[in-house]
Amino acid sequence: MVMPQEDRIFLSSPHMSGNEQKYIQEAFDLNWIAPLGNNVEGFERELAQYNDIAGTAVVTSGTAAIHLALRMLGVERNDTVFCSSLTFIASVNPIIYQGAKPVFIDSELDSWNMSPQALERAFEDAKRKGEMPKAVIVVHLYGQSAKVDEIKEICDTYHVPLIEDAAESLGSTYKGKKSGTLGKIGIFSFNGNKIITTSGGGALISEDEQMLQKARFLATQARDQAIHYQHSELGYNYRMSNIVAGIGRGQLEVLDERVNQRRAVFERYYKAFKDIPGIAFQPELENSRSNRWLTALTIDSKQTGVSRTEIIQKLAEENIEARPVWKPMHLQPLFAGLLYYPHEVENSVSDFLFENGLCLPSGSNLSEEQQNKVIAMVLDMLKK
Ligand SMILES: *Cc1c(COP(=O)(O)O)cnc(C)c1O
Repeated sequence: MVMPQEDRIFLSSPHMSGNEQKYIQEAFDLNWIAPLGNNVEGFERELAQYNDIAGTAVVTSGTAAIHLALRMLGVERNDTVFCSSLTFIASVNPIIYQGAKPVFIDSELDSWNMSPQALERAFEDAKRKGEMPKAVIVVHLYGQSAKVDEIKEICDTYHVPLIEDAAESLGSTYKGKKSGTLGKIGIFSFNGNKIITTSGGGALISEDEQMLQKARFLATQARDQAIHYQHSELGYNYRMSNIVAGIGRGQLEVLDERVNQRRAVFERYYKAFKDIPGIAFQPELENSRSNRWLTALTIDSKQTGVSRTEIIQKLAEENIEARPVWKPMHLQPLFAGLLYYPHEVENSVSDFLFENGLCLPSGSNLSEEQQNKVIAMVLDMLKK
């Protein structure tokens, strides 16, 4: 049965500010609908300012941004790229688009993100085999920063550039710096379920303005400077449109507010469940601040008497959307047989997080009343 949208409690749904209309109207008034234009430039400038970084290039999706980042770093056929295993598939697909091979790296429990010790083992093996990766993609899951200092140190030792997949962590910070600004290239997503959205979109950010210039070039079909449409390189149609960028400008104005709202959602869940044996929330690393895009936790069914799957099913009956933690990439049928480095030889942390992990409705537009309903239902199940 299709339920009316207004009755449904979503995991994470778009939350408009009202300011978006102003920018869209301006584009209409100027008939600046076609690609590029003042909103694209404005959004790039404002996004760079927000993140305190030299520049950004806005594109059609986060996936496109990762694809361009790989092109920027020269990833080609038969190269390898190390990537977090516990993530959404968009982190990995662009590696395949390039004909390269992903190597999956497990998580650790302090952040649920890339395990530095697994990364180190992967590098040692790669060095032995003479197959160094062209890049490392680290994901900041659900808004929480990975152990970037440790990971960067390893990458620097082996002279391999780091791409931050900050699709879920826009507005988060790590040691006072914005998430996504710590590697060679960072990427964001403005997909409909993210902390701010343009309905669909993405961005690359970097201190290297030349690299971004090249990304913009490749994103507009790699057109040489000639009036007769000449092309010397393979390009894409990846540039963000001026209308979509207008939505982004309106959304960016409320990003900090959205972060605070998501953190407040987390705090309410945390207060309600923190003392229950068998429940553990995704931790926040010292010196980092998560945007808490999604509130994620693990349920030890032996202690709570109920599994995360039972909780998801029960909530679904009440038209409430909850989800398991991402299914790790090394467990995906599409990537069967590819190399994987667990946290410890006999201990895969991402397997554990997938089997026991739960994401609860976390939207910035989730009302307290709606959240109380979710909390009451979960508490009710746990007590039995
Ligand atoms: C959403 C997401 C992406 C991709 O973004 P799109 O804009 O949907 O292409 C990439 N990586 C992660 C971790 C994501 O959550």
